[in-house]
Amino acid sequence: MDAGLKRDLEAKVYAGERLSREDGIALYESDDLTWLGRLAHHKRTEMNGDRVMFNVNRHLNLTNVCSASCAYCSFQRKPGEKDAYTMRIDEAVAKAKEMEDEQLTELHIVNGLHPSLPWRYYPKVLRELKAALPNVKLKCFTATEVQWFEKISGLPASEILDELMDAGLESLTGGGAEIFDWEVRQHIVDHNCHWEDWSRIHRLAHEKGMKTPATMLYGHIEEPRHRVDHVMRLRELQDETGGFAVFIPLRYQHDFVDSQDGKVRNRIQERTTMAAPAESLKTFAVSRLMFDNVPHLKNFWVMHGLSVAQLSLNFGADDLDGSVVEYKITHDADSYGTPSTMHRDDLLNIIWDAGFQPVERNTRYEVVREYEKPISLAERRSEPQKVWA
Ligand code: SF4
Repeated sequence: MDAGLKRDLEAKVYAGERLSREDGIALYESDDLTWLGRLAHHKRTEMNGDRVMFNVNRHLNLTNVCSASCAYCSFQRKPGEKDAYTMRIDEAVAKAKEMEDEQLTELHIVNGLHPSLPWRYYPKVLRELKAALPNVKLKCFTATEVQWFEKISGLPASEILDELMDAGLESLTGGGAEIFDWEVRQHIVDHNCHWEDWSRIHRLAHEKGMKTPATMLYGHIEEPRHRVDHVMRLRELQDETGGFAVFIPLRYQHDFVDSQDGKVRNRIQERTTMAAPAESLKTFAVSRLMFDNVPHLKNFWVMHGLSVAQLSLNFGADDLDGSVVEYKITHDADSYGTPSTMHRDDLLNIIWDAGFQPVERNTRYEVVREYEKPISLAERRSEPQKVWA
């Protein structure tokens, strides 16, 4: 990058000026990762000090049966496939109850677009979960699912959200966003929820008092300009509603050969690679700098690995997510050695090791518990260091 442009961008960031679309594209063109990190860290420190938030949550998927076949998706199954499943309401409640003793505060529920489950199933399952786990907040359904509920119920999204909120819904999830630009979206998404509906449904949720997350799936067939466009749309909506609590860049994942049927479900796998760590850190940094009106930037560490997640705290991220539990449990790891759940003490150590103060939050980003400040680097150097895979 031209030294003059670099100086101009740096001056804008330090003056707190809003960055333009062209600025965002220029930032992605920079190979100076340390410089990007420094700018993003300045911004995150201005907004969130040296705090890193996390919450104790678990993920639940009521069904993997889906009417759509998004090109990148390895989760969906068609009715009748060997490992297709749909939980009965009592099964979902029993599964959630198993997690209760892990001091769970939030259940994160997303599902396939099931072709024959009736609309009534969804508020009913929420009501029963809320009755069984009254202290657990329910963060459920993508905007895509809400649009699907409109289709299967014939009700408008406003009435759907009212009923789900009455049943215990605390927040929507941020999924279904992927990349909004149609140039890319038409090749990766196979349902009918695009920017117009996705933004309509989140706008409605914000009007009803919900704080919602927004996501971006990056590192597949999109180019940096599409990531910038994605963030610009969200930033504009945030100017209007102020309802987004957090932005979550999600790293596109390759699929593994299914041991049951030998299939690789991801249909763009052969022409894509997964974003390398440097690209991920750049994406976090540029997102923090561009999306200047969203309070938090989250790293869902399951998709990045723990080392990149820890580093991302110096590239704009101030929130770590993934299933966090109280006790060490046996779990599956993917072929990168990334665990699917994390013991609370391990997470605290990762945050302290990176020089930040851990803060436990609830679904609405209210503080539940503040932990001690990190021990200074000089003191830590005299102790044996932990190495994270
Ligand atoms: S809507 Fe698309 S991404 Fe979501 S489960 Fe169905 S196929 Fe997968």
